[in-house]
Amino acid sequence: MELNEKLVQEIIAKVVSDMSTPKATETGRQLGVFDTMSEALSAVEKAYKEFRKYSVAQREQMIKNIRRLILEEAEQMAVLGVEETGMGRVSDKIIKHQLVANKTPGTEDLSPSVMTGDAGLTLVEMAPYGVIGSITPSTNPSETVLCNSMGMIAGGNAVVFNPHPNACRTANYAVDLVNRAILEAGGPENLVVSVKKPTMDSSNEMVASPIVRMLVATGGPGVVKMLLSSGKKAIGAGAGNPPVIVDETADIKKAAKDIVAGSSFDNNLPCIAEKECFVVESVADELIARMQESNAYLLKGKQIDDLVKIALVEKDGKYSINKKWVGKDAKLFLKELGIDADPRLIICETESLHPFVQVEMMMPILPIVRVKDIDEAIACAVKAEHGNRHSAHIHSKNVDHLTRFAREVETTIFVKNAPSYAGIGAGGEGYTTFTIAGPTGEGLTAAHSFTRQRRCVLVDGLHIV
Ligand code: NAD
Repeated sequence: MELNEKLVQEIIAKVVSDMSTPKATETGRQLGVFDTMSEALSAVEKAYKEFRKYSVAQREQMIKNIRRLILEEAEQMAVLGVEETGMGRVSDKIIKHQLVANKTPGTEDLSPSVMTGDAGLTLVEMAPYGVIGSITPSTNPSETVLCNSMGMIAGGNAVVFNPHPNACRTANYAVDLVNRAILEAGGPENLVVSVKKPTMDSSNEMVASPIVRMLVATGGPGVVKMLLSSGKKAIGAGAGNPPVIVDETADIKKAAKDIVAGSSFDNNLPCIAEKECFVVESVADELIARMQESNAYLLKGKQIDDLVKIALVEKDGKYSINKKWVGKDAKLFLKELGIDADPRLIICETESLHPFVQVEMMMPILPIVRVKDIDEAIACAVKAEHGNRHSAHIHSKNVDHLTRFAREVETTIFVKNAPSYAGIGAGGEGYTTFTIAGPTGEGLTAAHSFTRQRRCVLVDGLHIV
């Protein structure tokens, strides 16, 4: 038999696939997923002790394997995520997974520093915390587990997850994937763990456990507040309500296209997505017309009031989201209104105090508010962002407008003249994360966020000058 290049590649691929750890679908058991939190905690404690012996190069090999498996299984996770939570779009979730695989930093994100001088040499290294406890949302269930795991492992840590109960099958698929990748690299069992059925009790047990040295919460205000009152080092990645401004100097056709793309991405689930639009009066008609050309559907008058009744719940004059409708396709809202259409996004004109503007909806519905000028746009946008300091976006060619809005809104992410997702590395420079820590100030988290600095001092030695 002639051994050509193609055949050699096929044989290598077969050997690698035979060597890799089988999937849970093949074995019926998910790696790292335990019945109880206490089992998960003891397993991860043991794994962390073992992991301390591993080199940075071995950590990097584990991350490389995670990247490969994410790319291979992105579609399964996207399908499972939509199926389990009933939220989002499969095609967009595939893109989110690809972003995590390709643009989440690994060990290269850790940069030690050195101080040398007459007194000798001092080294500052980025050390692991140990076991990190992480609480993850329903909106990016596998994506958050995957990018947290990559950053935390790169930093030399082990992780215990308490995923959102409504998305735990998807999150735990990702936990299994990470463990398969680690084992394939010769790493320890159960470096990343989770529980089969997460509850508030399992969350409390995790937060209180002395095994857990650092906490990370990605979710709404409730979970961030809870973690920050835990008495432990905590990273809080909380809610946003990102405004987008369009002024009279913007390229209106591009602004319309970018806003529809960003706002409708995964049916508006991402915390960074455009959630309300403030447009200067003189270009408002053109923006709306261009958005309609970009696959947005315009609702008017009574249709808007009817949509409020579907998407929101009112109690004592206060509005909150109707959870049943979070992340649903635009066509389903329209069907409920008796309209047969399948756009990416629903748009409607409202006042700036309308609940569609003020409430973080996470639905493919974008309220548009006409404002007289940039001053009014900035004032309204800052109010709608509610001091979350999360994300804000603008389309403008006026440098003064761009700078003023950035200064006044003070958000962690600020995107100019692009869809919101450019802020997490999709079509913009910079790495990706699905844990954006505004409240505690780490910003876009990566391996360095999950390390502690340690100083090692040598006096009168190794200073060669
Ligand atoms: P959620 O707040 O309902 O749930 C997030 C996690 O926290 C879940 O695991 C949930 O079980 C847990 N949780 C909720 N309240 C808790 C409490 N009081 N004590 C302990 N645990 C609690 O969020 P969600 O609906 O799954 O996700 C959407 C929210 O998350 C939005 O507000 C969105 O802006 C935010 N989010 C923020 C980021 C970020 O990086 N900043 C990323 C994704 C989502």
